[in-house]
Amino acid sequence: MINFVGAGPGAADLITVRGMRLLEEADVVIYAGSLVNPKLLEYTSKDCRIYDSAKMTLEEIIDVMCEGEKKGLNTVRLQTGDPSIYGAIYEQMLMLDERGINYKFCPGVSSMFGAAASLKAEYTPPEVSQSVIITRAEGRTPVPAKESIKSFAGHGATMVIFLSAGMAEQVSNDLIEGGYSDKTPAAIVYKATWEDEKIIRTTVGGLAQSAAQNGINKTALIIVGEFLNKTGARSKLYDPSFTHEYRKGTEK
Ligand code: SAH
Repeated sequence: MINFVGAGPGAADLITVRGMRLLEEADVVIYAGSLVNPKLLEYTSKDCRIYDSAKMTLEEIIDVMCEGEKKGLNTVRLQTGDPSIYGAIYEQMLMLDERGINYKFCPGVSSMFGAAASLKAEYTPPEVSQSVIITRAEGRTPVPAKESIKSFAGHGATMVIFLSAGMAEQVSNDLIEGGYSDKTPAAIVYKATWEDEKIIRTTVGGLAQSAAQNGINKTALIIVGEFLNKTGARSKLYDPSFTHEYRKGTEK
């Protein structure tokens, strides 16, 4: 069996219990060496064969999986955060489908959630933002024109921008042109939940300078929105006057 497993954002104890068990039972692990914490490999048995996908092509990855299948081995494909976000998981699944090979998918904690925890913040405080836009700047990988950062900025919602720390100036300009004030709070979270994590609190206008001053151009999220100001109304859910399915409120 092949299991795609989310490794979590970095800290080795932020993998799911299921993911950890799958690593313990694995005969073969193909892990994304560029972003996955190697400490996670300590969950594997001593006979487990380990491959670093950072040095492999898609075809080579699929070959290792197919070889494992022929021998009846348990293969884990370990990918950073949650594999459904910029995980290039679709193309792997497609190739396995074409070969009639079955697989499962164990989710993980995305770095965007690791970063929120590090920031001790809620992305969706009432009356501030009730939506989170997950996106990236266009680099060598194209982004559909309808999904430009500029167009999303018009919503003024919370934004989590992946894969773009090396383009902080472009991101900052696009956000401002799209409608955010240059004073909107922003954060750069580098290696969220890793031991060398860095959190830089800045503004939309200050993103490029903050990234440059701290030497950050990869493995970071750019996070934008008024939620970072820790403002917002309290929720209805825990309001004493509010009645819902599980609790009767004081409101007549
Ligand atoms: N599937 C992953 C994202 C993979 S794309 C997830 O769910 O997190 C790789 C990008 O994710 C990096 O360029 C960076 O923007 C972000 N990233 C991954 N791990 C990170 C971490 N620990 N801290 C901050 N950003 C991270």
